Amino acid sequence: MAAVTISKVRKSYGTNEVVHGIDLAIPDGTFVVLLGPSGCGKSTLLRMIAGLEPITSGEIRIGDTLVNDLHPKDRNIAMVFQNYALYAHMSVFDNMAFSMQLKKLPKEEIAQKVDWAASILDLKPYLKRYPRELSGGQRQRVAMGRAIVRDPAVFLFDEPLSNLDAKLRVQMRTEIKELHHKLSTTVVYVTHDQIEAMTMADTIVVLRDGYIEQMGRPLEIYDRPANLFVAEFIGSPAMNILSGEVAAEGGAPVVRANGVSLPLPASAAVKPGQQVKYGIRPEHLRPLRDGAGVPARVSVTEPTGPEIHVYADIGDKEVCAISKERLDLAPGSEVRLAPVLDKVHLFDTATGSALAR
Ligand code: ADP
Ligand code: MG
Repeated sequence: MAAVTISKVRKSYGTNEVVHGIDLAIPDGTFVVLLGPSGCGKSTLLRMIAGLEPITSGEIRIGDTLVNDLHPKDRNIAMVFQNYALYAHMSVFDNMAFSMQLKKLPKEEIAQKVDWAASILDLKPYLKRYPRELSGGQRQRVAMGRAIVRDPAVFLFDEPLSNLDAKLRVQMRTEIKELHHKLSTTVVYVTHDQIEAMTMADTIVVLRDGYIEQMGRPLEIYDRPANLFVAEFIGSPAMNILSGEVAAEGGAPVVRANGVSLPLPASAAVKPGQQVKYGIRPEHLRPLRDGAGVPARVSVTEPTGPEIHVYADIGDKEVCAISKERLDLAPGSEVRLAPVLDKVHLFDTATGSALAR
């Protein structure tokens, strides 16, 4: 086990810089998820930790060792990719044993290690099978088995669940998390899937265009996004964002947007005339048949079972509101949407940064 310390790391391909001086300290034993849209530099960063991609400048340490110039096989890491990269002509046993056979470890030790990994990953009945005789989830587990028999100081995962169907993805999410609880090895896990990040991470690092936008525990990031990008990227359905101007109505601050007045908590650090983006998550926007709340017109409702997602237009802006009650709202009908005051997010229109509230 080891910490990973990334200092001022930059990466250019030719003249194109894609990672712009990342500082990131990953404590020993932590499960860190690098999250961001496609092309933001997640894989590049992971591959630089692995040593598969040289860094342009900066330092990477694994434990106390500066690994900038170390070969991948000397970094004490194990990597699991999206496409598993199993050897098709080898049995499950041999796939897992291969790295140890290369190192010429004693046969008995190899057998013990494979047995240990196979029991952790529920692969014991499949050791004699070939990859083509396994399901997607089993192949994914073999790829993890191959990684864990190496006893690495750090596991590196690059979108390992992307090729699995939705149900299996959910199951493997839990299995990887349990594996981390059992082994307590440091994990750096790359994904573009915010649900995966939220459910698995100790710490999420949100990346955009080669910069870190925010870093924190999942619910910290969910509850207190530092800027508009993070606010809109995390959460599904996404946070509603309305552009408007702060005003005072009857002594209370509001945001005028799309022809309505959206209520603000009295503590909001804004002044009349200020241009802001008003953010409210769907679960904090209560659909009511009448009474308090801003008027909106229902466009469509989606029952999910536990709740109903109500899509409605405030002026020409479509928002999503979630009801736990089985409201019967016909498309085209009027609805009232009431924001939960202490869950309102405010962002500066010019910079996108979160404002105190
Ligand atoms: P992600 O994994 O977040 O989707 P990548 O780390 O793969 O993103 O890529 C980050 C950026 O670097 C992208 O703009 C991509 O086009 C660029 N890039 C990645 N690999 C190479 C390469 N070998 N040569 C040139 N550009 C690359
Ligand atoms: Mg990638």
